[in-house]
Amino acid sequence: MSTVRIENLHVTFSGKNGKTEALKNFSLELADGDIYSVIGPSGSGKSTLLYVLSGIRTNYTGEVLIDGKRPDPKHQSIGLVPQNYGLLPWKRVKENIFLPERIKRKHAATNSSGAKPSFGDTHVQEIIRTLDLGELLHRYPHELSGGQQQRVALARSFIQKPDLLLMDEPFSALDALTAERSRKLFFDVWTKNPVTTLFITHNIDEAVSIGKRVLLLSPSPGQVTHILDAPTASEVRNLIADQWT
Ligand code: ADP
Ligand code: MG
Repeated sequence: MSTVRIENLHVTFSGKNGKTEALKNFSLELADGDIYSVIGPSGSGKSTLLYVLSGIRTNYTGEVLIDGKRPDPKHQSIGLVPQNYGLLPWKRVKENIFLPERIKRKHAATNSSGAKPSFGDTHVQEIIRTLDLGELLHRYPHELSGGQQQRVALARSFIQKPDLLLMDEPFSALDALTAERSRKLFFDVWTKNPVTTLFITHNIDEAVSIGKRVLLLSPSPGQVTHILDAPTASEVRNLIADQWT
């Protein structure tokens, strides 16, 4: 499990039409081992925040510390379920779901302890079964629908058992029944291995049912305006109605 401390984070993108400040003066502290849902308007910098925390985006100013260190996917176990699923197009599902583990082990060869997860493992089989991936294991990402790719990305993060889990609208492309089953699977996996989790969603009911705390962001560039402890959906709705209009 991990603690997260962000102070004065600024992320700016330069493009043809000038500069966009995706995050400005952004600060946040996350305690060890809780699930934080994040709700913010589109464009408020939620995905950018996850890319910084996962160590993929290194071009920022300010302080970002995971257990006191800068994000470093080679030496920290950080699970990311990106909004665009993040699958490698040239790898089959069967290889994609073990990918972060492979990358991590390659770089952490000197301190690898414990067995490598494999298809035979009960917990891997359970994840494949619940996410209904059995028939898809030999396909490539371009042969999958958006919802199927999202299920592969979820399987990958659940198999990895990371210390910090970052999920970017992970159930948004799933049909209602699969979303419900996937939420339950996430909760079961999480309960067995509680891990500090940042969970981005547009769905208020999902945010309050999954998150122990709910963070509300202001419109772009997003700032944390509220950290709510086990709020009800209507409390969140009222705050958003005041804040985003
Ligand atoms: P959210 O996930 O909350 O919808 P994002 O983090 O994706 O927001 O984006 C925040 C802002 O940064 C938006 O204005 C977006 O257009 C801009 N942005 C994000 N990624 C890039 C990029 N790679 N290049 C240029 N602008 C970007
Ligand atoms: Mg986003």
